[in-house]
Amino acid sequence: MSSDAKAAAPPAEVPNAGQVAAAVRGFIADIGPTVALALSSCVHCGRCAEACQFYVQTGDPRYTPIHKVEPFRRAYEREVGPFAFAYRLLGLAPKITPDELARWQELIYDSCNMCGRCSLICPMGIDIAELVERARHGMFAAGLAAADFLGVLAEKEHATGSPFGLVRSQFEDMLHAVGRDHGVVMNVDKGTADIVPTVSSIDVKMYPASMAAIAKVLNHMGASWTFRTDGFDADNVSLTAGDRAGQRKITLGIVKAALACDANTVVMPECGHSFTEMRWEAANAFGEALPFRVLQITELIAEGLSVGRIRVNKVPHSATYHDACQLSRRGGATAAPRVILEALGVELHEMEDAGATNWCCGGGGGVALIKRAQPLMDKAFEIKQRQIEVTGVATIYTSCSGCRQTLEHGGKARNWNKTVASLLELVADNLKD
Ligand code: SF4
Ligand code: SF4
Repeated sequence: MSSDAKAAAPPAEVPNAGQVAAAVRGFIADIGPTVALALSSCVHCGRCAEACQFYVQTGDPRYTPIHKVEPFRRAYEREVGPFAFAYRLLGLAPKITPDELARWQELIYDSCNMCGRCSLICPMGIDIAELVERARHGMFAAGLAAADFLGVLAEKEHATGSPFGLVRSQFEDMLHAVGRDHGVVMNVDKGTADIVPTVSSIDVKMYPASMAAIAKVLNHMGASWTFRTDGFDADNVSLTAGDRAGQRKITLGIVKAALACDANTVVMPECGHSFTEMRWEAANAFGEALPFRVLQITELIAEGLSVGRIRVNKVPHSATYHDACQLSRRGGATAAPRVILEALGVELHEMEDAGATNWCCGGGGGVALIKRAQPLMDKAFEIKQRQIEVTGVATIYTSCSGCRQTLEHGGKARNWNKTVASLLELVADNLKD
């Protein structure tokens, strides 16, 4: 194990007995038949280890994916599994101790991007990323979410809908300012609209041009569309923190905003986790099938290109494309960005393992938000660096602003002469008049 990785994991504060009990209650609350089957199906083949960037980069067996959910498995076997009595009697699933939970905080948060690469490779079909997400629920319920500020972000998000505490009037002012800066008409809070685009708080804070880019594309299409200030930030830090109630609130806020203007399409921004949340989980939160489509922005653009509603100029140059885990592997939006790059005349140099098996940038699953995880994240990033360098190109496009931020951060730390750019912004800058 590298000294860098060791430095990444100072012990978390040891929880008290009440927190341990709350965490176990939280774990149990998440165990239904599917989870129970997953928790009891592991055949200990070890294949998931080789799929995980944190294990591969450190060789530390603690970072074996299935090991990260060990307290969750123990809670199942000891408390609710069919042989719980025997497990307790024979000491096969010992009680979870405060020290163990303190150590596992790092495994459940800092060393998992929820990228699902391990889930893809598991021969037993165990969705380990999903188990980590569920284990985080128990940790959050017990006040054991990683690093205080991750909890603070989730709390702010719960209160305002935005992890940075951006309220409706501030968002509206920001949209109009961005519209003025970029010379684009911003539709805000229209009573009816076919398309409702959402934003990510990373875009709001770091990449406001991407909000102008969405507007440019929708205006170019001649679409009926509007931003809604009653449901705009799809980032959903609550999801990665493990705050189930907050996660649901953000998701339902967007659903209600779309319903309020009779939208038939909700467009997710360049943001990975928000897309899988809205595409796969929103209907559960809503309680029935959503009465509108959920498209990631690249899917909307690829569709627009195919029916002639979007026309772009050719801008021939060489580049590679970074597949965000939640967009490609977990979301299925793998072909759309390639359709777009082809339409733009970009010569695509694919990374090894591109598409569904691509490696995570290292920052997903909220890891980029955890300060103490930075050395570990940087270690994981080295895989991505190698993948990119093999392509020999100087430009990397991505459709996830979280990945964009992590790639920029990793590049800066290495004095890279690479440019990381948004695919959406490339399209918006090259629309045909
Ligand atoms: S989801 Fe990704 S980061 Fe988490 S354990 Fe699996 S491979 Fe590792
Ligand atoms: S790949 Fe699946 S079965 Fe094999 S150790 Fe990992 S979780 Fe268990």
